Amino acid sequence: RFAEVPLAPPDAILNLSTLYKADTSAKKVDLGVGAYRDNDGKPWVLPVVRKAETAIYESQVEHEYLPISGLKSFTDAAATLILGGDSVAIKENRVTSFQSISGTGALCLGANFLKHFLPQGTIVLLSNPTWANHKNIFNTAGLEAHEYVYYNPATLGLNLEGMLASLREAPNGSVVVLHACAHNPTGVDPTQDQWKQIADVMQTKNHFPFFDCAYQGFASGDLDRDAFAIRYFIERGFECSVAQSFAKNLGLYGERVGCYHVVSRTSEITDKVRSQIARVSRAIISNPPLYGARVASQVLNDPQLLAEWKESLRAMSGRIIEMRAQLRQRLVELQTPGNWDHIVNQIGMFSFTGLKLAQVEAIKSKHHIYMTGNGRISMAGLSTRNIDHVAQAIDDVVRN
Ligand code: PMP
Repeated sequence: RFAEVPLAPPDAILNLSTLYKADTSAKKVDLGVGAYRDNDGKPWVLPVVRKAETAIYESQVEHEYLPISGLKSFTDAAATLILGGDSVAIKENRVTSFQSISGTGALCLGANFLKHFLPQGTIVLLSNPTWANHKNIFNTAGLEAHEYVYYNPATLGLNLEGMLASLREAPNGSVVVLHACAHNPTGVDPTQDQWKQIADVMQTKNHFPFFDCAYQGFASGDLDRDAFAIRYFIERGFECSVAQSFAKNLGLYGERVGCYHVVSRTSEITDKVRSQIARVSRAIISNPPLYGARVASQVLNDPQLLAEWKESLRAMSGRIIEMRAQLRQRLVELQTPGNWDHIVNQIGMFSFTGLKLAQVEAIKSKHHIYMTGNGRISMAGLSTRNIDHVAQAIDDVVRN
């Protein structure tokens, strides 16, 4: 029956992990996977997560099904976290929130909802480049995905003019997927002024913003600052969707904790939207998983745990920002050809180094350093133990 099914290409990141694991060199460094690592290269369970887990265990909870929309104490707190404590949209009951299977599940739920209720033929615009799964998710939901200009390889920064031109050229009413902060894979975010220009064009074109927020608090260390773009668009009167992930900022990767929010113009519209998203979510997952949502809910609703979490966010983002500074400094000291300022100007989990495919291959085979073919490195893979080796290796492949 399935003899004619073509073999799908291997997943680039998972493939990289396999190669890394098979490498027996003591010098090997994994800069592929987008997960936080401490300075010893180990995953870090946040202390607030451990405390929340203990409290959950001790309270002898049961394991009944959640409602379709999920754990209300979690989804309410998640909405406040992303939209702000003073959100007018929340006060006016114009927000509906559904617990999702992390950020991916939120995107998937949103994509399926939009496919049913936007005019037929509505296209989705994705940044070039973007997280590899975006196209897959929207196409799988039956939506056509196109690209908007985003990155300028010459400056290793944002191509704002190109981006605005793409948004102007797209059909009116397109869905535009925007990385709320810490753009993956480039680490390049618009400034607040650039966000205003993007909003101007999107408002004129009646485009629908779909924010993907996988790194709130993880980028700058400040939960509010990282939510700027979303709150700004909503203040300007946009209706929008938000896919919110707690994988990175709470370190709950495998627990799959996330939320899909839709902000509408009126509470009447929101009631109708809620009823339809419930149908879609029921078809896909019936109801969401309980454990991770309970953990997140404990942290978000307890002022003391919340304050401790913010400290951990500053620790994680601070370590990454420090690694950026140290890597740049070493490349400057080595007088590695080129300008390396972009490493400190970029933000979040990733840096787009500007290394070309041949250099990426060379750094892997010669120096046992693993990164994706586009030259993206996960900053969390760097530590004071391996940064000299990585800087010298970059220097070597850039010169040769
Ligand atoms: N969007 C972006 C841009 C991401 O980088 C990620 C994580 N790699 C996600 C969404 C979703 O991740 P998760 O499903 O683990 O929350």
